Amino acid sequence: MTLVMKFGGTSVGSADAMRETAALILRTKETWNSVVVVASGMGSKPVKVTDLLLQGAYAAVDGDEQSYSRVAEQLREIHFEAIDGLLEPEGERQKILAENNDFIDHYLALCEAVCVLGELSPRALDAIGGMGERMSVRILAAYLRQLGHEAEAIDATELIVTDSNFQNASPIFGQTQVKSSGVIQPLLEQDSIPIITGFIGSDTNGVTTTLGRGGSDYSASILGQTMKADEVWIWTDVDGVMSADPRFVSTARSIPILNYREVSELAYFGARVLHPKTMRPCVESNIPLRIKNTFNPDHPGTVILADDPGSNGAIKAVTAIKDLCLITVEGTGMVGVPGIAARTFGAVASSDVSVLLISQASSEQSICFSVPDGATEIVIDSLAGEFAGELERRDIDSIWAMRDVSIVTIVGSGMRGTPGISGRIFSSLGDHQVNVIAIAQGSSECSISIVVAAEDTGSAVSHIHELIAA
Ligand code: ASP
Ligand code: MG
Repeated sequence: MTLVMKFGGTSVGSADAMRETAALILRTKETWNSVVVVASGMGSKPVKVTDLLLQGAYAAVDGDEQSYSRVAEQLREIHFEAIDGLLEPEGERQKILAENNDFIDHYLALCEAVCVLGELSPRALDAIGGMGERMSVRILAAYLRQLGHEAEAIDATELIVTDSNFQNASPIFGQTQVKSSGVIQPLLEQDSIPIITGFIGSDTNGVTTTLGRGGSDYSASILGQTMKADEVWIWTDVDGVMSADPRFVSTARSIPILNYREVSELAYFGARVLHPKTMRPCVESNIPLRIKNTFNPDHPGTVILADDPGSNGAIKAVTAIKDLCLITVEGTGMVGVPGIAARTFGAVASSDVSVLLISQASSEQSICFSVPDGATEIVIDSLAGEFAGELERRDIDSIWAMRDVSIVTIVGSGMRGTPGISGRIFSSLGDHQVNVIAIAQGSSECSISIVVAAEDTGSAVSHIHELIAA
């Protein structure tokens, strides 16, 4: 049985955190004979090593030598403090200190080069930004060895082969599979625990790439797929994915099972979940992906499956996005005229604004859509420009915005084909005097989104949450 586990920055953010993480790894290993660990760079709030590294790089390209030198010193402090706190002087402390020190020297050299050239390419950003994980895994692996367990730090540049799309690289499955099994399998056979850098990979020329910010989850999912793992666990600080934001809904609870579609809807609607891309490798290979809480490790968390057969009729989660506006393009001269929608969204796109929800009735007399509130003016101006002729001819009567609205989204693939769910939702909103301004439901039937006034958001979310079956 093989388990791939990913620990984020906080879990390796200090000597204490690493100590707990190591204990958790060893405890898990008692039940799973093969454990593969993926770790992020060190990072506890508010200082994240990856952010620091990039911050220094941006200072360098601005010619600000003082700032990047200060960052390098800060990096030394963070890592040396963890090493001193964990590793005994008579053991590997000096060796790991020297390795980390070399990385920071190399970091400084890269920043100097950037500073001299006055140029910071995506490729350079990946070389620089990916250094945090290289340092953290070496510390964690050495600590596990000190505890008497075989463990080996591995740079994922040796395992994950990607395209050369720096900053947001995509893995190449076949080559990654060959490489990662070649390195990881023998270690597992020797009962050693591979401690692998998240976030990074290398392209076919061996140049370091990164999988995008927050990419360590993705690394775990990729390695889970290539190693044919039985499960992949992402450790966080909550009991999995919650049915609502616990800051606003006191009865919010962890959702035991979600399917891929549901997570995608949730991720899209702003809940703190995995990026859909991250889940893809596991979903493709039918590997359960579990989100677990380091502070409550016995809690099963939320497991994400390709399909959740038992979710009939269930609303699983309700989330809200705030600070939006709803823009309406309205006019009797739009009816039956092809191209109005295309031009509307073309105009929005040309203002570089992303649309969150769209609704149009079959009368075609109006189209409405929501965008972030901050983009209201720019979108209205752009639409006014696009439709200047129609406005003059009165084919379009008005283009206007309703400010201060939220989208409340109800997610649950069991809603699909189950009549009565939207009835219950809207009755409940009616009973509680929440006015529904607009509605959208995709044909996937996996989510319903409604637009409400900002002041009704809390009430809408909590009353819909009451409908979630106990
Ligand atoms: N360290 C990387 C970042 O901060 C990757 C990760 O932590 O997931 O984006
Ligand atoms: Mg993360």
